[in-house]
Amino acid sequence: MALMRRQSLVTFDAPLRETTIDAPKPQGREVLVRVERCGLCHSDLHLQDGYMDLGNGKRLDTTRGMALPFTLGHEIAGVVDEVGPDAPKDIVGRKKAVFPWIGCGQCRDCVAGDENLCARNRFLGVSIDGGFATHVLVPDAKYLLDYDPLPVNMAATLMCSGITAYGALGSILNCSCGD
Ligand SMILES: [Zn+2]
Ligand SMILES: [Zn+2]
Repeated sequence: MALMRRQSLVTFDAPLRETTIDAPKPQGREVLVRVERCGLCHSDLHLQDGYMDLGNGKRLDTTRGMALPFTLGHEIAGVVDEVGPDAPKDIVGRKKAVFPWIGCGQCRDCVAGDENLCARNRFLGVSIDGGFATHVLVPDAKYLLDYDPLPVNMAATLMCSGITAYGALGSILNCSCGD
């Protein structure tokens, strides 16, 4: 069985350390992606610390009962390595960016298409293991996006930095304040 090497959060507020496990075998609609690029986001640094500094000595705990070792990284692009029995077979070997803001799929927000608002989310690299690794297990092939003709570095960072900027622009364009 192939090995999966990860740079894991083993202790909060400490450098990441390499951990190795057997690469998971995708079940159902799951997809195993071989990671080519994973961006480092400012949120990763807060999660690594285990808290967010709110100023004036106040801290917001971000550990949320997170089980360690945990693999951070949510700006992921790579190549589909293996698919579960219920996932499309023809995507094996394809280059894909990985949408990380994955919800439970069942609550009202998820059904409305707002998985990023899901309270029982499975955000890659935030709630379940992410992309600072040789591979990442994605819950469903529907979260994989073609990115040709963009370079792989840009495709990966678009998954968070890009969406953040786009979201800000979207709220300006949709603003009803009359300005
Ligand atoms: Zn981010
Ligand atoms: Zn949900």
